[in-house]
Amino acid sequence: MSSVQYDHVTCHYPGAERPSVSDLSLDIADGEFLVLVGPSGCGKSTTLRMLAGLEDVSDGAIRIGGEDVTHVASRDRDIAMVFQNYALYPHMSVRDNMGFALKIAKVAESERNQRIEEAARILDLTDYLDRKPKALSGGQRQRVAMGRAIVRSPQVFLMDEPLSNLDAKLRVQTRTQIASLTRRMGVTTVYVTHDQTEAMTMGDRVAVLKDGRLMQVDTPRELYDRPANEFVAGFIGSPAMNLFRTTVSPQHTVELGTLSWQLSPAAREALTGPEVTVGVRPEDLVISSEGHGLAVVADVVEELGADAYVYGHLDQRTAQHVTPVATSHGEDEDTVPNTGLNTEADASPLVIRVDGRQPPRVETTVWVAPDPERAHLFDTATGLRLPD
Ligand code: ADP
Ligand code: MG
Repeated sequence: MSSVQYDHVTCHYPGAERPSVSDLSLDIADGEFLVLVGPSGCGKSTTLRMLAGLEDVSDGAIRIGGEDVTHVASRDRDIAMVFQNYALYPHMSVRDNMGFALKIAKVAESERNQRIEEAARILDLTDYLDRKPKALSGGQRQRVAMGRAIVRSPQVFLMDEPLSNLDAKLRVQTRTQIASLTRRMGVTTVYVTHDQTEAMTMGDRVAVLKDGRLMQVDTPRELYDRPANEFVAGFIGSPAMNLFRTTVSPQHTVELGTLSWQLSPAAREALTGPEVTVGVRPEDLVISSEGHGLAVVADVVEELGADAYVYGHLDQRTAQHVTPVATSHGEDEDTVPNTGLNTEADASPLVIRVDGRQPPRVETTVWVAPDPERAHLFDTATGLRLPD
C-alpha cells in the first residue's frame, strides 16, 4: 500500500508536436481508488504508463510511497498492471497464468499456490483453476487477468480500460466487483477509462484530462455539482449538461428565454468577456407553464420507463440571444441514445428529463425553466466556472 504523487509531470514523445501530458500534478492517497477519465487521446494511458515506468518522464517527478521512482526501472517498481488486452497464455491453465509472475520471481510453490487460491477465491475462480483460457467466458478471463495482478500483492494497481472488451452488462457487474475488491484489499489503484459513467461509479475521486492537461480532480459528487469549467460540465453526466451561450446585458443580467437573473458581484468581477455560458442539467430543466422560460420543440422522445428524455431545439419564440452548445462526451456507442436524429447533436442540442409516465409528444413545444439554484455559470471566453 502506498500513496502516489505526480509532481509537475510532463511527457513529450520524441518528434511529437506537443506534450501528451503537460505539467500534471496529482496526489493520490494510500488506498485510494482514483480514476483518470477523458476523451480518446487526452493522455490517460501515457499518464498511467509513466507511473508504470513504461514511458519516460520528460519533466517533473513521480513518487510511490514518498520515494522518487522517476528514473527507477519498471520491474523495480512495486506495481501490477491490468490492460485492456489482457493476453493470457493460451496453453497454460488459469492457475499457471495467475502464478506465472510469481514463478519468475522464484516464489516457492507452496506460497504461490496459497496466493493463487486466495485470489481465485476472491475472484470466484476456484472452480476454474485447471481450465485453459479458451474454456472461459470473457468475464472470467478478465478476472484471471485481475488475479495475475492480485497475487503479486503490489503497492499499486494500474488498470487501463480493463473492461472495454466486455459486453455492456458484464462491464457493469465487473466494475462493481473491481471497485469493491481493491477497496477491500486497500491497495491504491489508478484506473483509466474513457467512459464517464464508469469513472463516476468507481472512483473515490476522478481526474478529468483533456489534451494532456488536468481539468479537475474531485469526488464524483463535486464534479457533478460543481464542475470547474465548461469542459468538465459537458463531459461529466449522461445525458450531457445543456449549455447555452448568451451575452450579459449592460445591467449585468443573464437572460434565458423569458427568464433573467443578476450576476453576483463576484461573478461580475471574474468575468473577462461579454458572454457567459449557462449550464443546466437535463433534470434541472423543469417543465413550466406556457410562456415561462424556454420553449423547446421536442424532436425525439426517449422513454426509459421511470424517466423519459426529450431531445429538442429552441423554439423561435425564445431563441433570441441564446445559442445552445452541442455537447458530446464521446461515450461508447451503446450508451448514446439510439435516436437516429441525434447523431446530428447540433439539430437537437437540448435534453430534458421528464416523468416517464407523462412524456410530451414529438413535435410539440414544451416550456421549461431552469432552477436558478442549479444553474452553472461559466465565462465563455475562458471556459472557467464563475464564482457564485
Ligand atoms: P489516451 O489513453 O487518453 O487515449 P494516450 O496517452 O494514448 O491517450 O495518447 C495521448 C497522446 O499521445 C495522443 O495524441 C497520442 O497520439 C500520443 N501518443 C501516444 N503514444 C505515443 C508514442 N509512443 N509516440 C508519440 N505519440 C504518442
Ligand atoms: Mg489509452
